[in-house]
Amino acid sequence: MTNRPNIVFITIDAWRYDAFGPAPDKHWLDRYGLSSKLHTPNLDRFAAESVYFTQALASAPHTTVSHASIMTGLFPPQHGVRSFFYERLPMEVKTLAEVLGEAGYLTVTLREAEDPGEPGILQKVDVLRGFEATINDLRHLTTLGQQAMADGRPVFAFLHLWDIHAPYLYSNWAKQNGCLDALWLKVSSLAEKWGIDPPEPSLLSEKIMMDFQRRVAERIPDVVGRIEMLFDWYVEGVTWFDRHRWPVVENILKESGLWENAIIFVYGDHGEGVHPDGHGIKVFNHGQSLLDDVLRVPLLVHGLPDTTPKIIDEQVSLVDLVPTVLKLLGIDPSESLGDSGLHELGGHSLLPRVNGQAYDRPPPLHFAELCQGGPDFTLAQPSPQYLYQRCVRGNGYKLLCHDGPVLMQRYSSWQDRIHRLGRKLVRKLGQAQEPHFIEDRATCRQLYWTDLQADPDELEPHHWQQDVPAEAIDLRAAVETLYQSAIRGPAIDTSDFDESAVLQRLAALGYVE
Ligand SMILES: [Zn+2]
Repeated sequence: MTNRPNIVFITIDAWRYDAFGPAPDKHWLDRYGLSSKLHTPNLDRFAAESVYFTQALASAPHTTVSHASIMTGLFPPQHGVRSFFYERLPMEVKTLAEVLGEAGYLTVTLREAEDPGEPGILQKVDVLRGFEATINDLRHLTTLGQQAMADGRPVFAFLHLWDIHAPYLYSNWAKQNGCLDALWLKVSSLAEKWGIDPPEPSLLSEKIMMDFQRRVAERIPDVVGRIEMLFDWYVEGVTWFDRHRWPVVENILKESGLWENAIIFVYGDHGEGVHPDGHGIKVFNHGQSLLDDVLRVPLLVHGLPDTTPKIIDEQVSLVDLVPTVLKLLGIDPSESLGDSGLHELGGHSLLPRVNGQAYDRPPPLHFAELCQGGPDFTLAQPSPQYLYQRCVRGNGYKLLCHDGPVLMQRYSSWQDRIHRLGRKLVRKLGQAQEPHFIEDRATCRQLYWTDLQADPDELEPHHWQQDVPAEAIDLRAAVETLYQSAIRGPAIDTSDFDESAVLQRLAALGYVE
């Protein structure tokens, strides 16, 4: 029993695929002159001791849905969490924490919130079901880990780190640990440059910082200038994270006994990206598209037994984490997660790839989904807020099924995007009626395919009518198979929590006004 390894999942929220040293492709950073500003020696060293997957993909471009996939090993239409903040995980879909808890693991999750009493978005979506302990300070992991070792219990720890998420250079951890010098330098220089009052230090919060970031963006007349400002701030945030936060995380894992006999998975839950849209307007954030720029993330696996560090360039998915853990521990997924057959199309263990073994079936495809929609949406009268995209990626191609007003959203500015998203979320929270989602594949208005080798930035997706290659036809068949049994979880229960607290948190993260 005691020989079973500890398992650690570390989400670095909004960590894009090229935002650390060893990333092989930094053309986006180069385009904005940011490669030389990125310094991540500590993460680089961790990567050099790990198996590093350069082509890992998230199954959604935002936190909640992506984590539902990370914790279940299933894609969104399989686990039922489809929208950013509407459905919760159905009870019949098991989480890794439940499975490992049943196997005797101490399961612990970290939540570093401004107000520890506030409801967390992952808790509300029920993605953290099964965790035995929740800590609000990473230092508490030391006692828990040492006690578990004394009791002969292995540990499954999930650490969700928000430090590089917007507003960049700011996090609750940074504030509580007096680590805001870099932020103030940034704020002072931007405030001076654009003639804006800086925030009052004693009142500093996520919300106040998001407001400041928005005010700066509003002053910049052109969209490219806004991207430059935000991308630069983001990269500084990653550099800051590497220097100040990551070493603390490593030290605590070592003190807790969760380093030596542990398999540590480190990844972004999604990226943060530059989005070209149908009108040539660009923005820098996440949650708005299924472009690789925001779906691709770093994935590092540290401590795999009998494995030398290596770099693997094959496409993998964050839904592969659960099957990998189950395989390592000798747990049968069909017994632990329910033998629904869904895992045939869900995640696959990463171990064959790590060990250079051939798959006994074609290389797994990756699916991702983005649902945004008002409750009043119908196909006949689409609301301007409605956007429903699904994509499948594999064999060098990507297929995008799009329902919505235009291919990309028709928002005229970064500010408009935030406002629109805000109204949508407020309406969702205020209405019991369920949004109307289209599951009928035949009603897809627009279908696009992209040859990722020829067009890696997905700037000119082809309409389905244009000389569709066989690979794309295969992808379409895979989407149809996956969506034949698509499910949606029940709506989030809003009766037991203070909506204003949730809205405050969403506002602090920049999702609502
Ligand atoms: Zn996230």
